[in-house]
Amino acid sequence: MAKNGFFSKIGSGSTGGSDSSDVDVNQLPIDKGDTTRRLELMDNFEQSGLIWFWATDASGKLIYLSDRAAQQVGKPIDELLGRFLSSLFTPDEDDDPDKPSRPLAFLLSARNSISELPVRVNTDASALSWSISGKPQFDEEEKFIGYRGSAKDITAERERQRDASRMAQFDSLTGLANRHRMNKRLTSILTAYKSAKRSCALMMLDLDRFKQVNDTLGHPAGDELLKQVAQRLERIIGQHGEIGRLGGDEFQVILPDVDDRGQLGDFAHRIIQMVSQPYSVAGSRAIIGTSVGIAIAPYDGVEQEELVSAADLALYSAKGGGRGQYRFYSSDLKDGAKLRKQIEEDLRDALDAGQIELHYQPIVQLETQQLSGFEALMRWNHPDRGWISPAMFIPIAEETNIINDLGEWALQQGCKDAANWPCDARVAINVSANQFSTTDLPSIVSRALSSTGLDPERLELELTESVFVADPKATQDTFTALKKLGVRLALDDFGTGYSSLGYLRNAPFDKIKIDQSFVRGATEDDNNNAAIISAIVSLAEALDMETVAEGVEALDELDLVKERGASHVQGHVFSQALSPDEVLERLNKGNIDYDPVGPAKHRSERKTVFRNIGVIHEDHRYQVMLRNLSKTGARIEGLLDVPVGTDLVLDLGDGQLVVSTVRRSKGYSQGLEFETPLISDGAEGLCTRHRISPYALAAAGMPLAALPEGSYMLVGNNRADGPKSRPRFLEVDLTKMGGRAA
Ligand code: C2E
Ligand code: MG
Ligand code: MG
Repeated sequence: MAKNGFFSKIGSGSTGGSDSSDVDVNQLPIDKGDTTRRLELMDNFEQSGLIWFWATDASGKLIYLSDRAAQQVGKPIDELLGRFLSSLFTPDEDDDPDKPSRPLAFLLSARNSISELPVRVNTDASALSWSISGKPQFDEEEKFIGYRGSAKDITAERERQRDASRMAQFDSLTGLANRHRMNKRLTSILTAYKSAKRSCALMMLDLDRFKQVNDTLGHPAGDELLKQVAQRLERIIGQHGEIGRLGGDEFQVILPDVDDRGQLGDFAHRIIQMVSQPYSVAGSRAIIGTSVGIAIAPYDGVEQEELVSAADLALYSAKGGGRGQYRFYSSDLKDGAKLRKQIEEDLRDALDAGQIELHYQPIVQLETQQLSGFEALMRWNHPDRGWISPAMFIPIAEETNIINDLGEWALQQGCKDAANWPCDARVAINVSANQFSTTDLPSIVSRALSSTGLDPERLELELTESVFVADPKATQDTFTALKKLGVRLALDDFGTGYSSLGYLRNAPFDKIKIDQSFVRGATEDDNNNAAIISAIVSLAEALDMETVAEGVEALDELDLVKERGASHVQGHVFSQALSPDEVLERLNKGNIDYDPVGPAKHRSERKTVFRNIGVIHEDHRYQVMLRNLSKTGARIEGLLDVPVGTDLVLDLGDGQLVVSTVRRSKGYSQGLEFETPLISDGAEGLCTRHRISPYALAAAGMPLAALPEGSYMLVGNNRADGPKSRPRFLEVDLTKMGGRAA
């Protein structure tokens, strides 16, 4: 029987309840007064290890601890006795940092009862968790003499709990926080920041072309890719913020204390670049991209839900603008998103309703200035909205898989039209990467050829570099099968993607199409487009391929691409896309010669805008027309004779104020220089780095809310007590002057 237990010690000297020697006392019921046998019972219990006991003196130092407990801690009992109980444990933080537990020392010094308090044992051995309970003890004079208590080992249970809560809060694939945890974190950050008047940015990311990797390389490869994306994001974001995976290929980043849109735009740009570098998964090379939507609290949303939906909307708009872009939230995105949803719905029926047509843009051989073929370009004649550009609806079709039906139809229709032409001009059909990798393209092409009787030599398929995203073996097989059919292949939009020379070496292209972004503006000296065109042309010549310069509009551009050696040109300088009837009419006349028509020189697009904005001067707000807008300045119309050197504040709406100085002034028109330059909004537009803070508006008496739409400057003539001075400038309503002044 245990002789050195807690209870034996305290109980030593007390007498047993029975001393009869001829009866086996062990067989008798245990009397309450039989302290010896009751202590034996307790000792047994203590020895079982199911529970341990401890005691402290009045100062909180340990004066007793069960042997088995000391054994588990891995220290001799003598080393533990005499130490403060509170020094042996640290509070066992829940995984939830928002809910800290009360420290033991506090409970002890307040002489509170302790009930099943989870603690971590301070030990060099492996992590131990105990649950401790205890009650303060007092002598007859009500003097505190210390604690008596129990403890038990809950290590295994706590580990199970922690695992479960990890699973509930983290994504098991990437180890990043999951949607649940991100929502909780964002809510608690925003709540805390509201009172501290701090800002917080939220980025939503959605991978581009991830579905294609999943579909062609398989789900395990897709999983591997997601892991690598998570690692890259962690490397870029590091300590700056928190990253989560919300599910699928959606990620979220919380960036506390950032509201500079210039900084955020740079950051988003870096993320896009990093994610777009090639990956090596399942023995293949995979290339994806990402789109990013950005919203900032409190400007775009004060509460979690509001901010998330703003960032979502920005992401949606980034995706709609093409791939690999970022967008800031702005209030007018709501209309864009509605429009896109509507278009997505209408697109499902467009083909069956006969609203889709193919138009044909001539491709002209430069040496002879004669027609070599036509590129088929899709046109959608929407019953309410009129003509919708493929640049708008093709990306939507690609996301929703409608592209495969549209693509098959285009092949069929293009071959049919071309078979009816009275000459053997070629027809080029655009094939989406999606269609290339997820459908049996060679069979579809073969059916189109046999049902229309078109000579395969006359059919050219335009592919973009994104077809190389897929499984290289499958890609190669498709190429081989297509070449076997005898059709020609063109690499479209060359230079805009990854432009890997490796692709060109291995793929059997007959033609490279130089993207219009290199042609447009190539005649200006602020870029090296001309050198790039030369490089592409000599590469193509070395590989025995033709080159088409796309988007040639001006005569000087035509001269340049000719001089740089392009073999073909497609652009407005020769012709826009023609309807099937117009093509037939021209071909029936036997007219295949083309003369260039267009402006002599390419002129860089100056952004002309017609937008009503506010101008603030002193205590007054005026309404003016914003004309040219650039990063560093603007031209406004509508104020009479504002002296050069006057400082004005432009209110561009949505809380964007721009401090500027009048540099030129003539009649109703002023040229302004901005104090700090505007930045790109990720799309074509410009925006300010900073906006009026909703905290400042709240301080001025407005309720704390995301920035309301439009302009709302609290200046004199908006104030209840009226302006303090007279306006200095005469405001002229330009709409009544036919929109032109000065
Ligand atoms: P893309 O294949 O690069 O087609 C060339 C685009 O440049 C066409 O725009 C054409 O109208 C335009 N373009 C040609 N010359 C000039 C010029 O001198 N100046 C200007 N500003 N533009 C010029 P479009 O028709 O809007 O088509 C846009 C894109 O939509 C195409 O780019 C192609 O990627 C896609 N697309 C069009 N039709 C189809 C189709 O049937 N299937 C698929 N998958 N994609 C298509
Ligand atoms: Mg094309
Ligand atoms: Mg192109």
